[in-house]
Amino acid sequence: MISVSKAKQQILKALPQLPKEIIKIEESLGRILAEPVIADRDFPLFDNSAMDGIALKAADTQGASAENPVQLSLVKTIPAGYAADQRLEPGQAAQIMTGAPVPPGADAVLPVESTDLDFSKPLDRTEAAIFQAVKPGDYIRRQGEYYQHGAILLDKGWEIRSQDIALFATVGQAEITVYRKPRVGLLTTGDELVAPDQPLEPGKIRDSNSYMLRALLEKSGAVAITSGVVADKEEEVIHALDRLIEQDIDLLLTSGGVSMGAFDVVRKVLETHGRVELWKVNMRPGKPLTFGRFREIPFIGLAGNPVSAFVGFQIFVFPALRHMAGVGAPLLTIEASLTADLHSDGRESYIPATLKNEQETWIVEPVQNQSSGNLYALIPTNSLIILPVGVEFLNKGELVKVFEM
Ligand code: AMP
Ligand code: MG
Repeated sequence: MISVSKAKQQILKALPQLPKEIIKIEESLGRILAEPVIADRDFPLFDNSAMDGIALKAADTQGASAENPVQLSLVKTIPAGYAADQRLEPGQAAQIMTGAPVPPGADAVLPVESTDLDFSKPLDRTEAAIFQAVKPGDYIRRQGEYYQHGAILLDKGWEIRSQDIALFATVGQAEITVYRKPRVGLLTTGDELVAPDQPLEPGKIRDSNSYMLRALLEKSGAVAITSGVVADKEEEVIHALDRLIEQDIDLLLTSGGVSMGAFDVVRKVLETHGRVELWKVNMRPGKPLTFGRFREIPFIGLAGNPVSAFVGFQIFVFPALRHMAGVGAPLLTIEASLTADLHSDGRESYIPATLKNEQETWIVEPVQNQSSGNLYALIPTNSLIILPVGVEFLNKGELVKVFEM
């Protein structure tokens, strides 16, 4: 049986890169950049004031203090948003607002608090007393101090957040090139499954995986194209998959039908209408994980047990979706101490758990009932404990690696 990391590598390697598209920056939150973002100008664009105050020549402020104020003549007021071209001569100053361009001849700004001015009153003064000396450059945000024209500010493969969108606007990009959202065809198999609003005949259970996987796909930035529940019959599975791949699908995702049961037809369908490239991973839960192709479309088959499907999504599908947009998705883990003894069977294990920070240390409470059919056990959890291959027992208090979800 193949290891989790080998299986993941093999799956990622087989996936195509998504095409690019251009979108408005207002719609780019959570998307993945497909082209670098380059500075169109220096930023700040021009030398500007970091404070409301007065622009002046630092040399004129030598020795100024509250006891020994220096008088300067005010020749101008410069609000933000207006060019300042009148040159200051020695002994002159200009009232200046935050963000306004520093006038030629000035080499520093003094905050209004260090003068006898009051900007809440009419700005009709012709003189100001200043109470503090400044050095050249004080309270000036220099042109190009943050970055310069032509600099690569963000590279492709970056997941876009709110501050990134602000940066796009700053460099004059109203549109941005991103990878198209992955389009995932989702199919759920099982004769026993009925939709939540349908009557439950004897032997039937409600389909929960369709809803969970759809939500996981959306949360991961993918578009889910669903075909609902399909019976455990090869022709029906083939028919449903064919309908899905007509819809420009990047990846097929199924739940159920990949185990050893007599009616596990999904894997058989891959054998006859595509190929199985990987089946069974040395992990718990979710051993029957399947990767291959239906016709030529990449295909991940998750086991039907709800906890297996959930874990399989976290460990394989999420990284697969990221990889198609050129982004790595390393499992970021933290170490936490177990609140209870923990059993496993030596396979690499992913045990749902509740991670908490108590008195500055991380503690983690594994679920009591590790059955992969127990969806309810997932409800209070927020993480997965990762046990490496070969570990069968850990004592309460021992440190484990935990992946926060
Ligand atoms: P399978 O992988 O098809 O052998 O299914 C394994 C177990 O998961 C069985 O007990 C199924 O009834 C259950 N199961 C399969 N698919 C779903 C689903 N969509 N929702 C809830 N339970 C499911
Ligand atoms: Mg089944």
